[in-house]
Formats: sequence, structure tokens, C-alpha cells
Amino acid sequence: MGADELEEGQIEARHSPRLPKSGLCQVLSMFRKVFIIIHLRRFFVKRLGISVASASPIVAGDARAPTDLKGLLPEQLRALAIELGGPAYRGDQLFRWIHEQGVCDFEAMSNLPKAFRAALREAGAIVGNLRLLERRDSATGMAAKFLFEATAGQIESVLIVDGDRRTACLSSQVGCALDCKFCATGRMGFRRNLGAGEIVDQLLQLHAAATQRGERVTNVVMMGMGEPLLNYNEVTRALRIIRHADGPTIGGRRITVSTAGYLPGIRQLAADDLNVGLAISLNATTDEVRERLMPINRKWPIAELLTAAREYFDKKGRRVTFEYVLMDGVTDSDEDAHRLAELTREIPSKINIIPYNELGDEGQATGMTFRRPPRRRIDEFLRRLRDNTDHTVTLRESRGGDIGAACGQLYRQQETGRQPATATA
Ligand code: SF4
Repeated sequence: MGADELEEGQIEARHSPRLPKSGLCQVLSMFRKVFIIIHLRRFFVKRLGISVASASPIVAGDARAPTDLKGLLPEQLRALAIELGGPAYRGDQLFRWIHEQGVCDFEAMSNLPKAFRAALREAGAIVGNLRLLERRDSATGMAAKFLFEATAGQIESVLIVDGDRRTACLSSQVGCALDCKFCATGRMGFRRNLGAGEIVDQLLQLHAAATQRGERVTNVVMMGMGEPLLNYNEVTRALRIIRHADGPTIGGRRITVSTAGYLPGIRQLAADDLNVGLAISLNATTDEVRERLMPINRKWPIAELLTAAREYFDKKGRRVTFEYVLMDGVTDSDEDAHRLAELTREIPSKINIIPYNELGDEGQATGMTFRRPPRRRIDEFLRRLRDNTDHTVTLRESRGGDIGAACGQLYRQQETGRQPATATA
């Protein structure tokens, strides 16, 4: 008996052969399957620390819902392999099939024994694949936006070209609870957290698109739909997979998590051994304005946010990035430029200035009437800021104004049947 046959036999011993599909046997078979799946779900939750609600891309909270292996780390796949009666190295083989070879069908994983593949299926395991609903390429070739179907809604990812960099901007949630007043995603409300597999899959699909052009994704930013730190476990597991040497292998230096200011999440990330960059979406220089724009500021005002940013630098030794969206007559005054320099003075950081990406008719319809400042105001703001700070200040022009590249914009356009606004940023 060969090694593979022996392992198949072991697996069969744990999960006895299928019963004939008739009458009582059918019912028993069904109960057995449900039992195995529930048992495995408990195993996923208790041993691997994966929440039922987010591990499944199909039905949150349903014990019979499948678990997406794309969102599991090698050590978790090894534990699963052992749980299913196989040797641990089957987990490493699974990881390589999924992340090196891009294979999602167990039948195509030719070095896995038949019985092991059957056990995976019976355990309710899948390798998820988000369905691409729409892709838009900007006329400049500098951005491509992808709209994917997900349970309870749609999510967006953007591939951004910047010199040699190819940055994948990924979503972490379907919708968002934080209701920032300038953001199309905020209008959706919160639908659900994405599983780690769904986050990784966005990257893999963008990577495949880049590969078709002879390129590869070099950087990842968690800056798409949702607040990533409110989906901490799934996001950080996805990033560990993305960093893994047998996975997409994008180093922590090239990964950034962007937050609207969820302080407990910033502190958790600072204490985590996952070394990634932190970006804070600041967008105002007074609590009064920031509260109007970003309701989360009522709970964690600017001063607390800056303290947390300083702590992040002290723990990680990495400069924090402050994102600052310039909105005409709201955040673009000379006083704002001076205050921004002052607020960030003691924090080793970079500052990204982002002229607002107008939503056109879409914005009018949803009450988001913010405007991009005129060019001379943007230049003046930059001049004053640079004159008053030693930090690196970068102007980030939207590379996808013509494709609805602002967060949640393409989704809203799909939902309302509107065309993208003219390029504004
Ligand atoms: S800007 Fe980010 S945190 Fe704010 S509502 Fe939009 S997705 Fe949520």
C-alpha cells in the first residue's frame, strides 16, 4: 500500500464510506454531513480562532456554511489537515495550490489524495472566488477599478499605477458603519465584515490583471470600502497571508492599513507583531469640523488620535501617514494649513493631501455636495503647509476620476444606474 493510499485509508476510517442514497440512509447521510460540518466549524472557531460570522463568505452565522480556505494561514491549514485525518504537510500543499498556483478546485489539486479532497468537501471547505461584476479602466491607464459581488452587497478594489508601483487598494467590509459625510460607502451603512479569504481574493484578482500586462502588484493599502480596524481579525489574517513567503509575498513595508480613527484598533495594531504601515484619515484640523465630517471624532477626538499615532511610531518605528482631503471652503483654509503643520509637528509622519474627488450628479442625489478646491487654492495650501513643516508632504491626485475611483462610488453608480462623474481629481 502506497503512502497516499494509507492516508486515504486513515481518512476513510475517520469518515466512514458514503451510504447508499435511499430512504433512511439518505437521511443518515445528511445528518452525518451536518455533524461533520458543525464539528469542523467548532474546530475553526475554537482552535483556529476564526469567527463563524466572518469565516464564511456565504451565510454569516450558519453552522453549515462553508469555510473559505483562501483565508487560512499555512499553520491553520496544517491543523485542518490533521483534523481531517491526513498528515500536516497536506496543509502546506493546500496553501501552495491556492496561493502559488491560483487553483480553487480541489479536483485539480493533483497531489492531494482523493479521500482527502472528499473529506475537505464533506467538511464544508471551499476555495472562494469573488465574482467580478464590472471592471473600469481609466482613460489615462493609471487606475483600474473592480466591482465584485459579495454576499449582502458589492465591494470595490482599485489597482493604482504610480511610477514603478502597482498598488492594490482593498475593501475590508461590505458598506461601513462610520458614516463619513464625504464618502459614498458611508451612505450604504454597514452590511457585514469580509472574510480574510475575500480580502486575499481581491488582491489575487488584481494581481492576475496586473500579470496580464506583464506587471505585478507591489503594494497593498487597506483603504477601500469599510473601516479595516473594525474587522481586525480577518484583516490582519489576510495581511499575514499576503505577506507569506509561499503566498503573494508582499512585505509589511509595502502594506498600509488606513483608519478613520478607531483608537482601540490602532492600539491593537501597535501591539501586534504584524509590522505594517498605518495611515490615519485626518481630514480636518479642529474637532468641530472633524465631527461634522467624521462622526467617529465625537468618540475619539483629534488629540487622542495624535497621541495614538505617536505611540504607533514609538512601538513600530514607522512614520504614520496622515491623509487629508481638501474640500473647498471646508478644510482648505490658510489656517487649516498652519494648524495641520502644528498638530503633526511632534509626530514623525508623512502627509498626503488629496483634493476631493467630486461625485457629480451622484453627489447631488445623495446630499454630498463637497467640492474640490480650485487649483490655485490647492497650491497655496501646499505652499503654506510645506513652509511650516519638516514632514514630507505629497499631493495625491486621484488617478481614476473618470472611473468612479473614490471609495464606494462605483458601487453607488451601479446601484443607481448613474454614469461616472466627469474627471475631477
Ligand atoms: S471614509 Fe472609510 S471609514 Fe469613512 S465611511 Fe467611508 S469607508 Fe467608512
